[in-house]
Amino acid sequence: MIRVGIGFDSHRFASGRPLVLGGVHVPYPRGLAGHSDADAIAHAVGDAMLGAVNLGDIGRLFPNTDPAYKNADSMALLADIHQRVHGEGWTLHQADVTVIAEAPKLAPHIDAMRVRLAQALDVAANAVSIKAKTNEGMGFIGRAEGIAVFAVVTLVPGVEEEPVTEGLSPSQP
Ligand code: MG
Repeated sequence: MIRVGIGFDSHRFASGRPLVLGGVHVPYPRGLAGHSDADAIAHAVGDAMLGAVNLGDIGRLFPNTDPAYKNADSMALLADIHQRVHGEGWTLHQADVTVIAEAPKLAPHIDAMRVRLAQALDVAANAVSIKAKTNEGMGFIGRAEGIAVFAVVTLVPGVEEEPVTEGLSPSQP
C-alpha cells in the first residue's frame, strides 16, 4: 500500500531578500517574495506530503497571516510536516521535484538541496530527486520574474526501521 501526493508552488522574485531554495542559500541578486523564507521547493514538497495523507496544505497549517511564520525557516515547517505525516502512520519513500527557473543556474546547488530536504524529512539523500529546467524564455518564468516548482512524493506505511550502521556487524564474531 502506498500513497502519492502532488505539490506545486510559485513565488515572484523580490529584491532585498536572500534566495533560499531547498534549504540552501543560492547566491543571486534577488530572493523570493513571501511571508516565510519563500522556499518554493520546501513548500511544494510539503504540500505533496500533506496531500498524500489528506492533511490539508501548507497555507492552512502555517497561515501567512500568522506572525509566527514571518520569515519562517521552511525546513522547520517541513520537519513539522514530516512529524504530522509520521503521526498518521506514513513515512516518505521518495520525492521527485522539478524546479522551473530561468535564473539563477541551480545545478551547482542541487546536491546540497537534496541533502537538506532529506535531513528535514528523515530519509536518505538518494530518496530525494531534484531537477532544474528553464522555461525556454516563455512567460513570467522565462522573463525571470519568478520561479515555479512541482513535487511528487510517495509514502509507505511508517514502520520504524532499524538504523543501518554500515561496516559494523556487532552480531558477527
Ligand atoms: Mg510558497
